[in-house]
Amino acid sequence: MALVIKSECIDVKDGICTTACPVDCIYEGGRMFYIHPTECIECGMCESICPVDAIRYDDELGDATAFAGINAAVFRGSDGKITEPGGWRRGAAPIGDHPNVAAWPAATGASDSADDEAAGRGDSTQMEDGKHAGLGRTEMGQQVP
Ligand code: SF4
Ligand code: SF4
Repeated sequence: MALVIKSECIDVKDGICTTACPVDCIYEGGRMFYIHPTECIECGMCESICPVDAIRYDDELGDATAFAGINAAVFRGSDGKITEPGGWRRGAAPIGDHPNVAAWPAATGASDSADDEAAGRGDSTQMEDGKHAGLGRTEMGQQVP
């Protein structure tokens, strides 16, 4: 089984984990990134690099076990089978969010920008190598329908 991205990624989505993945199996969605369940080789490189501790091995999910299914479901085709896109690339159109993620309550706070500053996250200019410029806050702020 693959590693799994959990709810902590929602609306953070800085893409840092993609810089560590040797097989490009971490795909951008609208509000979070998702790990492809069969392309992942379980190297564990992404787990330690996530600034919000959103990534876990599937048997270490605790009360977030639903996210194993959520990460897999976004890659299912209309026939129910897992599709294999062959690797995420910067600039690719985001895949559709899982309905549970699309409906996830937006974080509230007196000041999003202040919160982001305190958390050391923000726009893609904070990424070390700039590989994923254009990701991050530009996709944030999506309102729950
Ligand atoms: S465990 Fe390795 S292969 Fe799997 S998503 Fe993380 S970095 Fe990519
Ligand atoms: S490093 Fe963490 S917060 Fe950033 S995109 Fe990856 S899973 Fe989401």
